[in-house]
Order: sequence, then C-alpha cells, then structure tokens
Amino acid sequence: MSRIRVAIQKSGRLSESSLGLLQSCGLRFAKSKDKLFWYGQDFPVDLLLVRDDDIPRLLLDGVCELGIVGQNIAREVMLERNGGSGLEELRPLQFGGCRLSLAVPEASTASSAKDLDGARIATSYPALTRALLEEQGVSARIVELSGSVEIAPGLGTADAISDLVSTGTTLRANHLRELQELFRSTAALYRSAAPMSEESSTLLDRLLARLDGVLQAQECKYVMLHAPRDQVDTITALLPGAEHPSVMELEGTPGRVALHAVCRETLFWEHLEALKGAGATAILVLPVEKMLA
Ligand code: ATP
Ligand code: MG
Repeated sequence: MSRIRVAIQKSGRLSESSLGLLQSCGLRFAKSKDKLFWYGQDFPVDLLLVRDDDIPRLLLDGVCELGIVGQNIAREVMLERNGGSGLEELRPLQFGGCRLSLAVPEASTASSAKDLDGARIATSYPALTRALLEEQGVSARIVELSGSVEIAPGLGTADAISDLVSTGTTLRANHLRELQELFRSTAALYRSAAPMSEESSTLLDRLLARLDGVLQAQECKYVMLHAPRDQVDTITALLPGAEHPSVMELEGTPGRVALHAVCRETLFWEHLEALKGAGATAILVLPVEKMLA
C-alpha cells in the first residue's frame, strides 16, 4: 500500500502549528528515536522533520510528496533551482505570517524601492528579492547572507536589507527603518508538481478533505444568543457568513427567542457589539471542533 511523506520544520516558528494541524486531521505518529522520521499510525501518512530550508528541495527531489513551509522559502527555492516552478501550493495556512521587506538605516533619505537602484542589498532571499525588485524596474547588487542580515548596514557591507519582518522590533533595535514591503508570506502546504500514483492521489484527496474540514472549522464559530422575535432577520444579517439560523421558543418570554447559527467567517468584537445594539443578549460564541460539509 502506498504511503505519503510530509516534510515539516523540526524546530522553529512553524513546527508546532504544522504538527498541530496534521494532528487535528486525525493523524497520529510513532516517534522514532532519532526524531527525524515519524511513522503514521492510523493513516498512511508519515512525517519527516527537517530544517525548513530543506523542505522545497526534498519535494523537488521526490523524497517527500508534501511539505509545509513558508511561501517565502518555497518561492526562493523554486526561483533558485527550478526557474520559478516545480511546486504546487495546495492550501495557504493560517500561521507563519510575515512580510519580506526592504529596510534602510534610519538616516537614509531613500523613500521607496526605486531609490535603491544600484544599491547593495543584504538578504537571505537573493533570488526572490532580485525578482521582486526587477518587477519594479530596480536592479540591485545582492549581498547574500545566511543570517543576521540586519547587522549588514551597520558593518558597512550593505546599503539596505531585504528581510522577514513580523513586528519590526529587530529592525528598530538595529536602527533600521522599514522602507517597503516586497512580499507577504504565510505557511502553506505544497506538493511536488511531479505526477503521483493513483493510489497516492486518492490518499492525498482524503487528507485534503480532512484538512479542509479543519481549516473551515478554525474560522467557524457557533453562536447562541437571545433576541427580540421581531429582530431575527436583522440579527441574522449581522452574523458574518451565517445562513438559516435555528430559532427556538424561550419559555415564559413570548417576545424573545433563542437563536443559534454557525458563522463561517471570522467573528470580530465589532460584530458582537452590533448584535448587542440590535437587541441581542446572552451572546455565547463557541469554537467548532470539526466540520464535514
Ligand atoms: P530552521 O532551523 O528550520 O532553518 P529558521 O531559523 O530558518 O529555522 P524560523 O525562524 O523558525 O526559521 O522561521 C521559519 C519561517 O517562519 C520563516 O521562513 C517564515 O516563513 C516564518 N516567519 C514568520 N514570522 C517570521 C519572522 N518574524 N521572522 C522570520 N520568519 C518568520
Ligand atoms: Mg531555515
């Protein structure tokens, strides 16, 4: 029987969420002693725990069928190794969000990427940075560094950097100013574009169906509230992505009903305030653990 191998980051920002996501799909693994290969117990999907930089290459080389990695790395390796293709993004995921941004020393007069034409830019993402700058007609001299990119301008080895940013704290600590965002990235599930056996593709479809259920459920909330009977339509319209609520009698209060609905889109505090404004009380929001549409 065929099995599918999924490469995930061994230890780092994506590890916990990647493993958690697969476990939410009902996958259980027997951990091996060397911790590099985990055997899938109830479902024929195994894990390979590696450095995130290696994941796209493992897919391109056919060692693994699937991998969870940042779009930043997938794009970089495809550009470096494969003319920008070779991996298929199956699903973007809701973690690992960051941006690849250009940053310059605080004292720099540059105001956009265009001002960096001919400048030396330090980065760990040489191919991606070059491609994104070229799209804007900027030709830069790339200084490739594998880490600590943010210290390059201070050392005088670069005029600017192109690096991953999430909060901007590292930039500020190094007296750098974010100049322009080049690329937004999240983690994503990738497969190699190489054809799969029929058996593996059936297995992949089963895994994706489970994954879609989990991803949908993460956004979904089950909402219960009390509402004036004559406000049911207004209140339903205020619930994001909700259809066909259940409306039930509330014993002893003829003018009010209990309303239950599944919201398929993110529910913000603003939505709850609007519901309250429309007369809703006793508003409860519950997570949805699994969903099979
Ligand atoms: P490894 O040892 O596996 O090579 P790493 O140090 O290269 O780990 P991490 O720092 O764990 O990698 O980051 C993994 C991914 O997390 C990045 O490639 C990126 O997609 C995402 N990420 C999210 N926020 C940030 C951030 N602020 N800085 C860097 N990466 C981030
Ligand atoms: Mg890495």
